[in-house]
Amino acid sequence: MNVNPLLQDWKTPYGLPPFGSVQAQHFEPAFERAIAEHRAEIDAIANQTAAPSFENTIAALDRSGRNLDRIDNFFHNLAASETSSALQAVQVRMAPVLAAHSSETYMHRGLYERIDALHAQRESLALTPEQRRVLERYHSDFVRSGARFEPAAQQRYAQVMGRLAELTTRFGQNVLADETAFQLVLRGEVDAAGLPEFVRAAMREAARERGLGDAMLVTLSRSHIVPFLTFSERRDLREQAWRAWTTRGEHDGEHDNRGIAREILTLRNEQARLHGYASFADYALTDTMAGRQGAVLDLLKQVWEPAKRRAADEQQALEALALARGEPGVIEPWDWRYYAEKVRQQRYDLDEATIKPYFPLDRMIEAAFDCAQRLFGLRFVAQPGVAAYHPDVQVYEVRGADDALIGIFLHDNFARPTKRSGAWMSSYRYQSRNGQVTLPIVVNNNNFAKGAAGEPTLLSFDDAHTLFHEFGHGLHGLLSDVTYERLSGTAVLRDFVELPSQLFEHWLEEPEVLRRHARHYRTGEAIPQDLIDKLHRARHFNQGYETVRYAASALVDMAVHALTDREAPDVVAFEREELARLGVPASAGMNHRLTHFQHLFAGSGYAAGYYVYLWAEVLDADGYQAFREAGDPFDAQVAARLRRYVYSSGNSLEPTAAYRSFRGRAPTPQAMLEQRGLVEPA
Ligand SMILES: [Zn+2]
Repeated sequence: MNVNPLLQDWKTPYGLPPFGSVQAQHFEPAFERAIAEHRAEIDAIANQTAAPSFENTIAALDRSGRNLDRIDNFFHNLAASETSSALQAVQVRMAPVLAAHSSETYMHRGLYERIDALHAQRESLALTPEQRRVLERYHSDFVRSGARFEPAAQQRYAQVMGRLAELTTRFGQNVLADETAFQLVLRGEVDAAGLPEFVRAAMREAARERGLGDAMLVTLSRSHIVPFLTFSERRDLREQAWRAWTTRGEHDGEHDNRGIAREILTLRNEQARLHGYASFADYALTDTMAGRQGAVLDLLKQVWEPAKRRAADEQQALEALALARGEPGVIEPWDWRYYAEKVRQQRYDLDEATIKPYFPLDRMIEAAFDCAQRLFGLRFVAQPGVAAYHPDVQVYEVRGADDALIGIFLHDNFARPTKRSGAWMSSYRYQSRNGQVTLPIVVNNNNFAKGAAGEPTLLSFDDAHTLFHEFGHGLHGLLSDVTYERLSGTAVLRDFVELPSQLFEHWLEEPEVLRRHARHYRTGEAIPQDLIDKLHRARHFNQGYETVRYAASALVDMAVHALTDREAPDVVAFEREELARLGVPASAGMNHRLTHFQHLFAGSGYAAGYYVYLWAEVLDADGYQAFREAGDPFDAQVAARLRRYVYSSGNSLEPTAAYRSFRGRAPTPQAMLEQRGLVEPA
């Protein structure tokens, strides 16, 4: 403890964190020191005698706190990807401290007065468009964090934010605890009935990693649970697994999220009221492209009724198949995927076990890199000698067309008990060149079930989509080309943030890309054309189910955050009533129930914002048509516009204008509706 590596010079390759030498107890003293340093920097900006200028206030603010940022980014990434009980304890203690520091910064009267003065004169300051944008963003950040409140309101606001930070931290930890606690151990053929060999192999590997000998283990990782629900012939075990998966966070005891979610909602309502809004949804949506609840609901309405009709048709087909097989014709939620897979095999002659061998993880990573090279001239160069926080993490140099280093990419692909569920992109460092040139360090986390020792990891087509999706976010961080860190990469309005990720998924569907990269893991033979054709023909299959589950989650999110009562209701009862009111079929359900809806409650990024995937889908489906119209998925001119206005511009451009500049016109929802099979092609 004599030497704290976090407080030394990080003499590491590329300025990566000193992964090997840091322990949980190093973080708190490092945070304390870095917070004090940042406070001093802020005071110096606020208290200087020189009149406010863009350079001495906005640019200086943007440069401040870099040491705190690098410790904070390291800490939060580690806590998400490779946690421990010691790190979790630090997380709970630090959450309110970091929130208090943030409140202190954004309510700093002296600092805000300078920003406000500059904002008032913004027309006459001769700013570049980017400078003007960053001034407006900072001004809005301060106003939206309570900078203009009276002192008593500021004090209460800071309390609310501190408590929210603590609660959202605990919410995420509770979900992980329920996920880690669940183990469905399969022994022998009777338990494993119906599971194809690739599913068994992944489950054997999971059992081996946890010291369970040669059994098979089903965990609550999506890459276990979804194949299990898809293939297992054991209806009783499917039910058991499904119940465990959908009741995460809803058990009595120390990991119960019901009270936590309710308190978060109550506090968010108070937060919104302090700002003069009736509901949290109103407050959150003012800083989005959608702007207001009506715009979100209009969009969701366009898919909701058609999706329900389609899901009802799908359910009929599942029931008919079950009856034809002499099984009960009642589709319970744990039956849907099982029968859907059977219908898919029958209707499209397509089964998961035939597809998977063509999607080994290594080749799909090469495919993503190759698309990035063909579109943007990037090269990803593996650095096997550079270690990260876990041996499974691969470190890459990212080089541009002129071979210059533009960033560092960390790829962390496998599920493990110390990692949060889901898939996400995050950063250890953001691109900027304010004062000094700073290259981005980006990480992609997935939760793929690792193949058995010596065997490749095989992805489903869905998994491959996830890989491309997160990689698209990664490119948004890596290609960022702005001056100010506040505008860097993914720091865009949140209903724009899923555009680069969802757009990138389209290249995975290109026959040319599949022929080149989807190769059988044993023979190296390219995926046969008839299998590509089948994949495309089956593209709309089960989209009613998927759309209902997604839209139900988005509608419940919006409804629960649109409540204007000071006291939030019981979330389980609210959700049940809302699903009934919407007419969500019980056999379909929703993607995330409120007690484990981490998008909403393990942080605030997607609260009243789960709709953003669909919002961005309007843009990505419409945007990809630009390549179709050019007749080439790698058309150089379209790719150059895409890079300039979408992948590299961060938040330096107003998003509606940025999209228009890329596309040459505003988007229409037609391509999104066609993509989901909800309307006939125009
Ligand atoms: Zn995403």
